[in-house]
Amino acid sequence: MVRRSWAGTGWILLLALLSPAWAGQDPAMELVLLGTGYPYPSADRAGPSCAVVVGGVAFIVDAGRGIGMRIAAAGIPWSAIRSVFITHLHSDHIDGLPDLFHSCWQFGGGRPFELYGPEGIRGVAEGILKFYEADIRIRRDLTEKLPAEGAEIDARAIGEGVVYSAPDRVRVTAFAVNHRPVEPAFGYRFDAGGRSIVITGDTRPDPNLDRFARGADILVHEAYVNGDTASRQDGSHSWTIYDYHSSAAEAGAAARKANVKILVLTHLIPGNAPEKYFLDEAKRNFSGRVIVGRDLLRIPVPDSADSPAVQ
Ligand SMILES: [Zn+2]
Ligand SMILES: [Zn+2]
Repeated sequence: MVRRSWAGTGWILLLALLSPAWAGQDPAMELVLLGTGYPYPSADRAGPSCAVVVGGVAFIVDAGRGIGMRIAAAGIPWSAIRSVFITHLHSDHIDGLPDLFHSCWQFGGGRPFELYGPEGIRGVAEGILKFYEADIRIRRDLTEKLPAEGAEIDARAIGEGVVYSAPDRVRVTAFAVNHRPVEPAFGYRFDAGGRSIVITGDTRPDPNLDRFARGADILVHEAYVNGDTASRQDGSHSWTIYDYHSSAAEAGAAARKANVKILVLTHLIPGNAPEKYFLDEAKRNFSGRVIVGRDLLRIPVPDSADSPAVQ
């Protein structure tokens, strides 16, 4: 969580306003949890979203409800947001996407909004532009005269493989996960300078996830507790969330199989369950460090392995 010091002279205050804790930290790679909730609205947990920050550049994964306010609270400058990666098109992962797009245009760098996601992402982008059609015309042509390029969305439908690569800086690899019947659905692996963060999105246990997450410094995995696993047995039931999500115990098993250093639980179902439930379940299967996610938690890589500040 960002903490600001407002003491000092005027120019220090000005610097703090311009770069709150952001430029000063600048670790090689950092995870910022922006939202750790699920579809049911919560005052404490925004919809699923996180930022992977590499050298002051932010890559956003998923854009759940409330992402704009969480980005503001995290002190991430709008101009620092380079690209947005959507895991799948369930509403809770894109509820905040229009706000994210529009804020990047209004307050960011004026580039086209760079958006990666599964097949169907272009339709989502077209819908956002249609939704803001009148506003874009007003702010671009009449009032603020905002840059026209920033009101465009560069939407790219992805498949498994490397989807973003900046030489000597960061590589983003998409991999298929099992969120059936939601297809396609992807997780993302970020590699930079020998450090790595893997974000599962929503998934059942999946050997492909274990493979792509292998050896990661941080695995960000969804988790539920108190699931009724019996519902999966007879084959004649209607779908429940437990049929296409992972329990905290299963997240722990995935962390063990992939031999990651730190497991971060997010997309917590239900969001108001005691964190201890998630922690205890995950620890049944994983002896490494487990962190139950909270909105605005920042986890640097690799320093976090030695930090006692969080669970
Ligand atoms: Zn989903
Ligand atoms: Zn979800």
